[in-house]
Amino acid sequence: MPETGWAGPGGRLSGLGVSQGRAAGPLVRMAGPPSLPAPRPVADPEAEAATAVKALEAVTADLNRRAAAARTGASAGAGGGGGAGAGGEAAEILEALAMIADDPMLREEAETRARGGADAAHALEAAFNGHRDALAALGGYLAERAADLDDLKHRAVAAALGLPMPGLPDPGHPYVLVAGDLSPADTAGLGPDVLALITERGGPTSHTAILARARGLPAVVACPAVADVPDGTIVGVDGASGEIALGLTPEQAAEVMERDRAERARLAAATGPGRTADGHPVRLLANIGSAADLRPGAEGVGLFRTEFLFLDRKQPPSPEEQTAAYAEVFERAEGPVIVRTLDAGTDKPLPFLGLPEEPNPALGVRGLRVDRLLPGVLDAQLAAIAEAARVTGADVRVMAPMVTTPAEAAGFARRARAAGIAQVGVMVEVPAAALRAAELLREVDFLSIGTNDLAQYTFAADRQHPALADLLDPRQPALLGLIEACAAAGREAGKPVGVCGEAAGDPAVAPLLVGLGVTSLSMAPSCVPLVREALAGLTLEECRELAREALA
Ligand code: PEP
Ligand code: MG
Repeated sequence: MPETGWAGPGGRLSGLGVSQGRAAGPLVRMAGPPSLPAPRPVADPEAEAATAVKALEAVTADLNRRAAAARTGASAGAGGGGGAGAGGEAAEILEALAMIADDPMLREEAETRARGGADAAHALEAAFNGHRDALAALGGYLAERAADLDDLKHRAVAAALGLPMPGLPDPGHPYVLVAGDLSPADTAGLGPDVLALITERGGPTSHTAILARARGLPAVVACPAVADVPDGTIVGVDGASGEIALGLTPEQAAEVMERDRAERARLAAATGPGRTADGHPVRLLANIGSAADLRPGAEGVGLFRTEFLFLDRKQPPSPEEQTAAYAEVFERAEGPVIVRTLDAGTDKPLPFLGLPEEPNPALGVRGLRVDRLLPGVLDAQLAAIAEAARVTGADVRVMAPMVTTPAEAAGFARRARAAGIAQVGVMVEVPAAALRAAELLREVDFLSIGTNDLAQYTFAADRQHPALADLLDPRQPALLGLIEACAAAGREAGKPVGVCGEAAGDPAVAPLLVGLGVTSLSMAPSCVPLVREALAGLTLEECRELAREALA
């Protein structure tokens, strides 16, 4: 492939590049649930019964193979599968599902229905539905497992119809994953074979984008045309420009991978604290979702998104489990760790909280506001964070998401300090908070600007919406003005004001944020080397000049 002009023999597509780096490999699509065709007349009921049984066996074998892979990943501490703890937990879940698919009662029910004249797919559909309704009628925890049965049903029906099973593919070789969209739980479960992500939908600050960056996986979102590219096509993905080269040869793909490895090695060779060319310090911090995301190179953790630990949980994590998960991060992180309390709601649902559905969830009960409905959750989390800080002796700070008023900041600070956490901050994610930055800083020790949500709420533009990407551009002057106001309030109060939204990890935007006066930048660990390089190339005055131009 030529160095310039990112196109393959099969042409090119473009979308929004949301996670830098290049990768190439065969495209594998994440299948959705199969649609059940109309029932067909059955000539040989015994053959249908055998097909139904074979489908159940295929589902069981597939789940057991995935469980074994998750266990191997867990014991090897591999980054894939969401980290060691998550790998072990994933294996247990997969084994439990395999046991359900292997249930003799389910098999007999499907066989009976096939012998009674249903085709294999409809026999399976009816057998699973019967089991699901029986579970749902029992209520409580068992009723929650009803959704698992639906997932198994989709897999078994797909197998009976000879279609790919829904869910994350596992082709047994490295591949570029293509999906309509990915839920945070899907993205958290990505294995080490995934080379890059392409989604038809999704926006620049969607959680698919955030998780891709956390993994250092090149990613392109908002590329509807990828729906027409056949499975198995070798594609090259440029996660910075958003371009996708089609129809590469295996040799060209290997060359792309090799160049990417060399570029990452070159960037990683520069280490040390963040500074401008004239030595003005800017702390470069990491955004993480679990200990598995930690990499050497950052000066601390500026945003630990704790909700990512519990995305697919249907039962609340116990205090011990929370303490252990936080302590794992505190032990392994270099430098201070800023823990953000759970930010549930909208695009990051936490099923274990059981929050009611809302007509307008981005403007509803999310982040710190969950405390209004479920006051025990925040205090339990603060206690677990304080305990993990005590046992590890780490420098731990906390901050709350979606804070709107100084009164909310004061209430959060009081409860965090009562739990024994001395350094307390709040995120600035809504314009009301930015406009009252000075008052917030009377209550707390630092501010951390979440530009993803601050852009969403300033421009009334859904952060997941690909068609509104221009409004979500962090260079929008109105957003920069709010950031500047926060930085000025921090200077006045003598307190740090950082940025931890995705803008901080963009090497083209980071110098501008420094020019506006922010004191730290927190980003996906994979972005730290590029941002370090960008800052080292400019003086503070040059950064200020960039900021002045952008504001104008
Ligand atoms: C933000 O909104 O910028 C932020 C860092 O929080 P999240 O992306 O997790 O909502
Ligand atoms: Mg946010």
